[in-house]
Amino acid sequence: MFRSKDFLKWSDETIEVVLKKTPVGGALDLLLKDFFNWATRNSIYPLHFGIMCCALEMAVASAPRFDAQRMGVIYRSTPRQCDVLLVNGPVSKKLKPVLRRLYDQMPGPKWVIAMGECAISGGPFWESYNVVPGVDAFIPVDIYIPGCPARPEALIDGFLKLQKMILENKRGLLTGR
Ligand code: SF4
Repeated sequence: MFRSKDFLKWSDETIEVVLKKTPVGGALDLLLKDFFNWATRNSIYPLHFGIMCCALEMAVASAPRFDAQRMGVIYRSTPRQCDVLLVNGPVSKKLKPVLRRLYDQMPGPKWVIAMGECAISGGPFWESYNVVPGVDAFIPVDIYIPGCPARPEALIDGFLKLQKMILENKRGLLTGR
């Protein structure tokens, strides 16, 4: 019997072969790269995942005063629909494999933002027996936003920097992370 899991695996492999190993993929990438890049930078979907106090600032950044949604920033609750992992708070050694798994479940192209001192270096918990000294120890980070806490304005600025990075990198259809 042909199960849905088998169908998804077959379609993934077939699309990958068509895109990466035939001239069709190259032509599509050439035609759609600019559109894909425009759509990507104007629809940033971060994973709705807060660890500690900086998560409150993340929530405020989406409230009416700062309104991150006007820039196309819309939080989703499943990694399958996200292209940004926004880490805000200390990552404990117990949480580390879970966060890595969430990152692996996000489809490419994808980006990572480390918000606040805890996510950048462990912050006040630096050298603690159970806190990882920065998320970049196990996940590649694209944007660092310092602060304890990082203010909503700083997060908005981080999103603007990410949009600029997406514009400059132009990853296209054929590149993953
Ligand atoms: S950086 Fe400061 S405000 Fe942010 S999670 Fe760590 S302790 Fe809390």
